[in-house]
Amino acid sequence: MDYKNKLEELKRLDLLRTVKDKDCRCGRTIKTGGREFLNFSSNDYLGLASNSAIIKAAQDALMDYGHGAGASRLLSGGTSIHALLEEKTASFKGAEKAVMFNSGYAANTGAIAALTDEHSAIFSDELNHASIVDGCRLSATSKRYIYKHCDLDHLETLLSKSLSAPNKLVITETVFSMDGDVADISNINMLCDKYNAVLYIDDAHATGVLGNGKGALAHFNVTPGNNIIQMGTYSKALGSIGGYIAASEAVIDYLFNTARPLIYSTALPATAAASSNAAIEYIEAHPELVVKLRENIVTCRRLLLSKGFSVTNDETPIIPIVFNSASEVLHISGCLLDRGFYAPAIRPPTVKTPRIRISMSAFHEKDDIEHLVNALTEAIR
Ligand SMILES: *Cc1c(COP(=O)(O)O)cnc(C)c1O
Repeated sequence: MDYKNKLEELKRLDLLRTVKDKDCRCGRTIKTGGREFLNFSSNDYLGLASNSAIIKAAQDALMDYGHGAGASRLLSGGTSIHALLEEKTASFKGAEKAVMFNSGYAANTGAIAALTDEHSAIFSDELNHASIVDGCRLSATSKRYIYKHCDLDHLETLLSKSLSAPNKLVITETVFSMDGDVADISNINMLCDKYNAVLYIDDAHATGVLGNGKGALAHFNVTPGNNIIQMGTYSKALGSIGGYIAASEAVIDYLFNTARPLIYSTALPATAAASSNAAIEYIEAHPELVVKLRENIVTCRRLLLSKGFSVTNDETPIIPIVFNSASEVLHISGCLLDRGFYAPAIRPPTVKTPRIRISMSAFHEKDDIEHLVNALTEAIR
């Protein structure tokens, strides 16, 4: 393959991606390329990635357990801190048991493939994250159906045509990562009950954000029964690294026996488990942090609306501003950079419609948000 030519083609289409490494901690400001910007690009929704209590927990684990884990979880890679985190995760999510994976990506690809077989039918929202899409691809022998985004009528039509499938799995993100909208988990769960399907939710962007930080089930007042599998990440609002599945004991024990990313990959170091554990404890002890995030979200949306931007929901920290073309969105993102704001352009194939994806965090101050919205308004003029 002519990779150089392929790269030039991407560049011509304004779709070339480049890595932008930073020279600082993850936080309110970001230093990159010798300049400092206000950071509106991070999934660190509660500012926990550089929280000193959490860093201290990781430091202590580093001194006690060293760095590399040495083996996969099933051999000798885990520590009592890994086990502690799994217990903590299960109780935080209201589930019987939990298992940690090396990333959210590994959790989705590993779990979806492991939990399905030739007797399975998967029903997946069309805007589900790439890690879910890849998990479905790895589930090679199952039947796979894509339903229109958050379209429960379409989902029900597909379910009603698959009554005979013995193992039905409905998969949806709770907060969609590129649009910030929230799936109607109450009614999707009712559909799952009606059609005897298991509900698999990806709570990556709801954990630490909705339901006092506990996630979408708490937000919707849905009891996490045995027909619900909760996937999530420690890498977003929890400011750490890793993914998890929280579900019934049977599901978790089965994953330990069958999920390939768990079996064939070295465990995360104890530092990662310790910082995730400390992050959950921090959220439980500091409900005001989730409230501050919520206030910032409301402020940002109110200001955007007052300037004529169309913003739909007001519950999540992901605020997309959609444009017609990749070149337009690159231009706006560049204008924002010139004015000292780091809000990334998201382009195809990550999304269909190019957009600036504003991420709000509890670390933002009111002035930061006002200045961003003003800069955005000027950039569009
Ligand atoms: C980020 C993300 C993941 C992957 O999580 P990582 O821990 O970053 O690998 C999975 N699902 C969704 C919806 C995400 O946004």
